[in-house]
Amino acid sequence: MEKIIMLGTGNGGTLDLYNTCFVIQNGNGKFLVDTGGSIEIIKRLKQVNIDLNDIKHIFISHSHTDHILGLIWMFKKLGRASINGEIETNINIYCNDVVYKSIMEVSKHVLPEKIVKGICNIVDFHILKDEEKIDINGVKYTFFDIQARGTKQFGFECKLNEKRLIFLGDETLNPNLYERVKKSDYVMHEAFCLDSEESIFHAYEKNHSTAKSVSKVMNDLEVKNLILYHTEESHNNRKELYTKEGNENFSGNIYVPDDLEIIEL
Ligand SMILES: [Zn+2]
Repeated sequence: MEKIIMLGTGNGGTLDLYNTCFVIQNGNGKFLVDTGGSIEIIKRLKQVNIDLNDIKHIFISHSHTDHILGLIWMFKKLGRASINGEIETNINIYCNDVVYKSIMEVSKHVLPEKIVKGICNIVDFHILKDEEKIDINGVKYTFFDIQARGTKQFGFECKLNEKRLIFLGDETLNPNLYERVKKSDYVMHEAFCLDSEESIFHAYEKNHSTAKSVSKVMNDLEVKNLILYHTEESHNNRKELYTKEGNENFSGNIYVPDDLEIIEL
């Protein structure tokens, strides 16, 4: 019953792949993690038969364009629905304080005032503290600061279908968090490009990883399943190439989902 629906798996600059975002779905509801950077979020939800109004929980990991701006497009639709009295239950948005400020500031400048008012009537913001625990759709999530080198970024840990799953946002894992990740059942981590193509895509200088570098670390941490996303899009056989490079360095299972692919836990 528990599944991860990948709406997008691309990095911040992809055109055909949508920016990385996904829905965690269980019997109690849907939880949207990040929103990508454009109106494409609305289309992606449609493509997986999720009604915008069915999403009552949204987490935004950090305030970069490819994670936050899809939310503004959702606001445009939801704000209108709110004004028309079409939203019955409030929407919860979980994010850190920097993300909250960014959302409010951008919304104020790019959306009509009445839409922003409509949104304020139906959205409850939960400004996350490091290590805060929140129940979402009957699942206990612990949100934590991933100690990113860039802007403040949160990830989370939860138990889904008796398995420990950790989402680590879109930066190379800070060694301070190795203990937390050790022996996890599922780790969701970015892989910007293949190691063999680092000199083309420059993952490291952007605080990103290669399929090889992240696989090596996760192998040392005895992780069982590794889900890689937030990649470049130059290959038609990306899944095959990234899985191969990952498998050469990791003894567990590697998942390199395509956009709209569903991972059953
Ligand atoms: Zn990103």
